[in-house]
Amino acid sequence: MAELRLDPIQRRWVITGKRPTLPAAFDSGVECPFCPGHEHYTPPSIYERKGADGRWDIRVFPDRSPLFRIEGDLDRAGEGMFDRMNALGAHEILVATRRHGVTLAQFSVEEVAEVIQVYRDRILDLKRDHRFRYVYLFKVQGRSGPPSQEHSCSQILATPVVPGVVEAEFRWSQFYFRRKERCIFCDILQQERESPRRIVEEVEGFISFCPYAARFPYELWILPTEHSSSFEQDLMAPGRASQLADILKSSLRRIERISPRLRMVIHTEPNMDAKRPTEDWWKTIREDYHWHIEIVPELETDPVYLVPEGFYFNPISAEEAAVVLRALEPDSGGALPEE
Ligand SMILES: [Zn+2]
Ligand SMILES: [Zn+2]
Ligand SMILES: [Zn+2]
Repeated sequence: MAELRLDPIQRRWVITGKRPTLPAAFDSGVECPFCPGHEHYTPPSIYERKGADGRWDIRVFPDRSPLFRIEGDLDRAGEGMFDRMNALGAHEILVATRRHGVTLAQFSVEEVAEVIQVYRDRILDLKRDHRFRYVYLFKVQGRSGPPSQEHSCSQILATPVVPGVVEAEFRWSQFYFRRKERCIFCDILQQERESPRRIVEEVEGFISFCPYAARFPYELWILPTEHSSSFEQDLMAPGRASQLADILKSSLRRIERISPRLRMVIHTEPNMDAKRPTEDWWKTIREDYHWHIEIVPELETDPVYLVPEGFYFNPISAEEAAVVLRALEPDSGGALPEE
């Protein structure tokens, strides 16, 4: 089994060792394994959302070559001064539609809302496992590769540690809260609304804007306008999935006009039911932190090696990007015709 090693200087977790891989029968380079009728090319479903005709509309199954695996124990151990544990966790693929070659932005608002509900339900389900401290949901769209790359899907990782990027957000949100007794994200929202140069869109319950120090051209964030640290809890409220679907669809449509290749990630609170290292582990997170979605189009920009490590270079300011994204008014475009 692969293992997790902690770099004690940077506090970074590194997965090292071979990924387990299911037999080649699951790997067809020719046909898309995510299309209906090809279910035998993937591991069996963990979850299926069925349509009126009884066939699946959304399907979730384990990755055939997972970064983390579900069986076994963590076996936390020291090696002298170092820390390691087994790469225990879950790595799931969520196929969002039966239709090949259709992007999430092209779904109807109702279909996007259904995908969001499955995101919520998978996060809630994985957080029932107390071995997992974080559930990380992300989407990579439009990279060239096997045919399955053209079939709309997302990935879900449940991990025994909090990923470094999210941990940094928790840490600095907590630092801000301790000084000011206010949520840093709520303060950012208030300031952005006072001078809305970076706001792209506001709908009932959600706002999208280009963050002040955007790392990438046209980076776009979606935040709930009411304070909430938890995507999955917030999305339990009636009507919330439709509200989010509305702005998520239009945001993705805008970003797709910039580039068909994009990345999307949901940042939410850690698993507060997990086995904790200490009693006060992220104890104030529900006040400190504010869940959000980050979307970034992938553009042909300066190669990474030209930018010094630890910096980002973004030639387009957040204010300029917001002007462009606002002007890319998504047309009314409703549901695509059925397959
Ligand atoms: Zn397909
Ligand atoms: Zn907040
Ligand atoms: Zn974030």
